[in-house]
Amino acid sequence: MADIVIDNLVKVYPGSTERANDSISMHIADGEFMVLLGPSGCGKTTLLRQIAGLELPTSGGIAVGGRDITYLPVHQRNLSMVFQSYAVFPHRRVRHNIAFGLKMRKLPQAEIDQKVAWAADLLQLGPYLDRFPAQLSGGQRQRVAVARAIVVDADVLLMDEPLSNLDALLRLSFRSELKRIVGQLGTTTVYVTHDQSEALSLGDSVAVMRAGKISQLGGPLEIYNHPADTFVGGFIGSPPMNFLDGTLTPGGISIAGHLVDAPPGAPGQGAVRIGIRAESLVVHPDPAAGRVPAEVLVVEPLGAATLLTAQVGQSQVKVQVPAESTVTAGQAIHLELPPRAVRLFDPETGLTWTLS
Ligand code: ATP
Repeated sequence: MADIVIDNLVKVYPGSTERANDSISMHIADGEFMVLLGPSGCGKTTLLRQIAGLELPTSGGIAVGGRDITYLPVHQRNLSMVFQSYAVFPHRRVRHNIAFGLKMRKLPQAEIDQKVAWAADLLQLGPYLDRFPAQLSGGQRQRVAVARAIVVDADVLLMDEPLSNLDALLRLSFRSELKRIVGQLGTTTVYVTHDQSEALSLGDSVAVMRAGKISQLGGPLEIYNHPADTFVGGFIGSPPMNFLDGTLTPGGISIAGHLVDAPPGAPGQGAVRIGIRAESLVVHPDPAAGRVPAEVLVVEPLGAATLLTAQVGQSQVKVQVPAESTVTAGQAIHLELPPRAVRLFDPETGLTWTLS
């Protein structure tokens, strides 16, 4: 069992007054793929480095498989790491790069050869084993770094933005490869990224971080569909969630002077911030009860779908329509907000309202 328990972890760097990690607690199950996601400076790498033993916490604790590792030196933690920079040794051939951790652990040569062959096969590096890293593409080099990390049978795999040096196309193909490989291994994994699509695609769970704290921890669809606050809704998704200010009334929600149906169980009355995803808004040519008038400002064909930017009262929203839509810029449209897709947030705190 290599579950990870992080208990009330606080990290204040020497000379700083800010908490880079502020009272972080989480349980990562054995075999789980946990993604730490958030904007630059929110404390993702700091948390990963404390699990790795490269930084010590100011207070709090970390246990792996029931063993307290908070203050253990790096080499006693049985972890593997893959970092942003490929971190492969340029003067060693691919096979010796992959074998590095195994040699350090003084495994018999036959076992090393067997494991290197296994990892090379898994990562499709077989034809390149005798090359030097300079003779590889960026994606192949990154695969070497991953191969080196997975051969050592570590309890936990830690990855810090491992795909960020790859171009967009390679990133996409390597992302699914990585998911397949880590899924096969079943190793408990903690993965840092600021790329929300990477987080949604890879994570069994995603911890969305902001200013040293966890804003929300949940499954990818849970954080996409039910963001805990407007920060999470605005960070997750491409485009991010739309927000519109309105007023809850007994007859529904008033938005820009038009009444739309409230979601089931919506509370009382008063100011409210509505969140709705671009793909949930429905475009109609004609006005009707429950629709909000809007003007199309921009039409962006994206291939699989088309993205509209539309003006609604004082706000702008993004609306996803089918690629074959004939809507043009300047056109007046009427937006339907299906009540079940509407999320309500407190306009003061930004926190979601739990519907009864
Ligand atoms: P990025 O995505 O840019 O890598 P991050 O979310 O990983 O960001 P961290 O690197 O964990 O963020 O940094 C969290 C906070 O701690 C930041 O305010 C950063 O400036 C600060 N910090 C990080 N490392 C140190 C350090 N060695 N000394 C002092 N402050 C640091």
